[in-house]
Amino acid sequence: MGGAVSRPQQITVLGATGSIGLSTLDVISRHPERYRVFALSGFARLAELEALCLLYRPRYAVVPGAEAARHLQGGLLAAGLTTRVLVGVAGLCEVAAHPEVDAVMAAIVGAAGLKPTLAAVEAGKKVLLANKEALVMSGALFMQAVRKSGAVLLPIDSEHNAIFQCLPTDYARGLAAVGVRRILLTASGGPFRETPLAELEQVSPEQACAHPNWSMGRKISVDSASMMNKGLELIEACWLFDARPAQVEVVIHPQSVIHSLVDYVDGSVLAQLGNPDMRTPISHALAWPERIDSGVAPLNLFSIARLDFLPPDELRFPCLRLARQAAEAGGTAPAMLNAANEVAVAAFLERRIRFPEIASIIDAVLNFEPAAVVESLDVVLAADSRARALAEQWLNRHGR
Ligand code: NDP
Ligand code: MG
Repeated sequence: MGGAVSRPQQITVLGATGSIGLSTLDVISRHPERYRVFALSGFARLAELEALCLLYRPRYAVVPGAEAARHLQGGLLAAGLTTRVLVGVAGLCEVAAHPEVDAVMAAIVGAAGLKPTLAAVEAGKKVLLANKEALVMSGALFMQAVRKSGAVLLPIDSEHNAIFQCLPTDYARGLAAVGVRRILLTASGGPFRETPLAELEQVSPEQACAHPNWSMGRKISVDSASMMNKGLELIEACWLFDARPAQVEVVIHPQSVIHSLVDYVDGSVLAQLGNPDMRTPISHALAWPERIDSGVAPLNLFSIARLDFLPPDELRFPCLRLARQAAEAGGTAPAMLNAANEVAVAAFLERRIRFPEIASIIDAVLNFEPAAVVESLDVVLAADSRARALAEQWLNRHGR
């Protein structure tokens, strides 16, 4: 490694039309000598996907259905492009595992990203993981597949990318072996950190999606408002860094300048700082172990002036407690937590439930059955389906 890059790396961007996908393409555009777009995928925003294809001229594009594929293929042919349009999960898995691909940005939101992300892992790719839900659902199998294939897994989630940067390169020997005492996972606290508790009953999807520091997709924005995002990230950290849930402490840090910290046994605490812009972790992971320009402005400590830290309030944020419980229970519990959360967040965005009912639904689903051992992907997918059905039953029972 190191030195001049001989040929551009071929990159597949799963979830190209989303917030992380677009930030990834922004970084790629800054380094045409290093990166070439191999494949792009979209789901509902197909006009945007077509525009991205015209701009990046990928070998493949992936859409959810046959009708959308015909439409996009026609448009691209008319524009003189040879891009081939593929369909559905099979298409996503094909472009994730294609022999000519060097790196895959896994930026589909939710459980829908699991199979394509796993396909990239099993093919031994460099996998840039934004799709935390995939790892939360299937952590043990996912990490086993990484070890088996030799895939290089690089975290895009800003906190995990920060932790990765603060750990020594041989951290896979075990946190204790490299002298780590704790991981400190920072959280902004989201838009409702100081909202009077009684008012949470009335908050709208628009208020939940108006994050104070980050601009993100709607699902993760609601997760940030409920702090389920931090709960999912706690589970994500346990798998990525082989930590016990008790070794990961959540710290509210409203400025989102410190992206997380690692506490060592000698009392040293290492942190990674930066402006809250996902192009920093994306550039870090794309170029690792080198460094490239991301387009992010230099951090101005004088304009930030102060950094605050507070403990999380579990009364305000019950989702954090539920996620910790699921992390400790292990097995199928995180997959059920994630699936119940996906159904609840979608219902909240459709104004079918009130914000605090997101936690009520997840609590009800997790209490319905004890966690089972995960021996295979089928067990994970069955737990995911069961949890979705239970969450839908809750919605019906409550007349939503
Ligand atoms: P967005 O909602 O902005 O984008 C999601 C992407 O996934 C879009 O390209 C969307 O296509 C596609 N997609 C949605 N549903 C499906 C489906 N069923 N099948 C295939 N593709 C689908 O989300 P973000 O970019 O914000 O987040 C992406 C992932 O990254 C999430 O897992 C999130 O937790 C994680 N992440 C995001 C951060 C951020 O700053 N945004 C920070 C850290 C992690 P289309 O738009 O065409 O419908
Ligand atoms: Mg994060």
